[in-house]
Amino acid sequence: MRVVFIGPPGAGKGTQAETVSKEEKIPHISSGNLLREAVETGTETGGKAKYYIEKGLLVPDNLVVDIIKDRILKKDCESGYILDGFPRTLAQAKILDEMLKNLGKKLDVVFYFAVSKENVVLRLSGRRICSSCGANYHIAFVPSLKNGICDKCGGKLNQRSDDKPETILERLRIYHEQTEDLIAYYRDNGILKEISSDGNIEKITKEVNNSINTSLQKKRS
Ligand code: AMP
Repeated sequence: MRVVFIGPPGAGKGTQAETVSKEEKIPHISSGNLLREAVETGTETGGKAKYYIEKGLLVPDNLVVDIIKDRILKKDCESGYILDGFPRTLAQAKILDEMLKNLGKKLDVVFYFAVSKENVVLRLSGRRICSSCGANYHIAFVPSLKNGICDKCGGKLNQRSDDKPETILERLRIYHEQTEDLIAYYRDNGILKEISSDGNIEKITKEVNNSINTSLQKKRS
């Protein structure tokens, strides 16, 4: 099952991807996480990507494509994966299709999570991430028991440098500009499933699961 999750930052696609990953036993591959890891561990790619990430700009295609390619060729990706944050542009989608074609594979379903601007700012500006284990919190919706401390490992909770309101709006603007063509491309390919991400998490999960099951049935028949 090869799935792509598209949605602006704050659409909750990371949360949905974690659920599907557990249920379908396929890895959740977030291009943003892979890039941040590369920056933190100080790889050559990370060094080149740092400037763009901090500004909320798209990292050049060649850097992100290399990172994704290495990841999807790993053994745990044999029965599928969820790509979250990649592809982000039509050019990246075409590179991915070509990459998969060469491997004799193709995508099964692409989810687009649509969400209002107000909800994005509310969700992202309150988001806090554990500096040790990566667990996600929200100061209003999913607070930790002790302010600024991770419940799971006692690590310090930080705000991502690109989760500040002024950067969020810039990330959103770039996101919509770049993804319009991408969404149209998958819609034309007949594999796009649009989900409204303004509602409650459980309802969205149910909708995602139903679509995954339909795609699985189609694949098996
Ligand atoms: P995210 O965690 O998905 O919000 O991504 C954080 C940052 O990583 C983005 O603002 C970009 O700078 C970079 N990034 C993530 N995925 C991509 C991609 N597919 N193409 C280019 N840049 C990306």
